Amino acid sequence: MVIVMKPNSTLKEISEVLKKIKELGLKPHVSKGKERTIIGVIGRSNANPELFEAINGVEKVVRILSPFKLSSREFKNENTVIKINGVEIGGNKIVVMAGPCAIESREQILEIAHTLKEMGVKILRGGAYKPRTSPYSFQGLKEKGLEYLEEVKKETGLAVITEVMSSEDVEKVGRVADIFQIGARNMQNFPLLETVGKTDKPVLLKRGMMATVEELLMSAEYILSNGNQRVILCERGIRTFEKYTRNTFDISAIPLLKKLSHLPVIADPSHGTGIRELVSPVGKSAIVSGADGLLIEVHQDPSNAISDGFQSLDLPMFSKLLSELRAICNAIGREI
Ligand code: PEP
Ligand code: MN
Repeated sequence: MVIVMKPNSTLKEISEVLKKIKELGLKPHVSKGKERTIIGVIGRSNANPELFEAINGVEKVVRILSPFKLSSREFKNENTVIKINGVEIGGNKIVVMAGPCAIESREQILEIAHTLKEMGVKILRGGAYKPRTSPYSFQGLKEKGLEYLEEVKKETGLAVITEVMSSEDVEKVGRVADIFQIGARNMQNFPLLETVGKTDKPVLLKRGMMATVEELLMSAEYILSNGNQRVILCERGIRTFEKYTRNTFDISAIPLLKKLSHLPVIADPSHGTGIRELVSPVGKSAIVSGADGLLIEVHQDPSNAISDGFQSLDLPMFSKLLSELRAICNAIGREI
């Protein structure tokens, strides 16, 4: 249930509502919007809405029928805009996060970071901890990778997004990352979701490869209900019977998520297709479908990349994508 306060409601009236919620053994979740305060009531509630409607300052009480609450448009109608280093995610401007799948060496990450910065990229991606199907594959440079990422940040001023794979690493990764990436394989690692939910750092939550849209939103709830409101949803393709692509990018998930949720939605066509030639067309389609930005694997020398080279754009391809995105944004009334 969501309690919508009147635009001019007082602090006293708000605390009256909070007191009532706690008296009923439920948990309040306060969201202060531009115009009004909205209070979510968390917990199994069959409380009578009239109990709240009678309190001064309450405009209305809305029951949220969907299983996801805090992420839903019913709970919050206005888009959530997340600010990182002066970059806004979820606003009218689309954001392109780009970089290699993995941090391979100090030189590699520094070089690509400088190049991408010159191309106008503001958020660099690069994994230090890599979830790999095979334990014999490169697992990432781990702490060394984080060190290099820190150096890149100091040198370039870029913000960075990097994956965190376990609760124990949240603090360490959080010292460097501007955005935590939760990978597809960890979308339902509930203790990890709770741990990042207790931080105040933005979290990009990737859709699990066998997860429904509803399951993705339920995972977002784990982060939101622990207090962290800065969640970014990411469509990165799901597993289907189709074998010609690595995953099947679910384009319909983009407008669907935008309809169901106020959270920003980012598309990852690199993992969504797994084929370099398909990354730009699918990425452009995602923007036309309403995505707030893209997460793109870019490598200075994809054929020698340690991981995911086959789906990484080289620099000329990435540059072409950026200029095409400019034209698309112009046509659809968005900025880049
Ligand atoms: C990645 O971004 O490199 C990655 C491992 O992605 P996913 O979790 O979507 O497979
Ligand atoms: Mn990858």
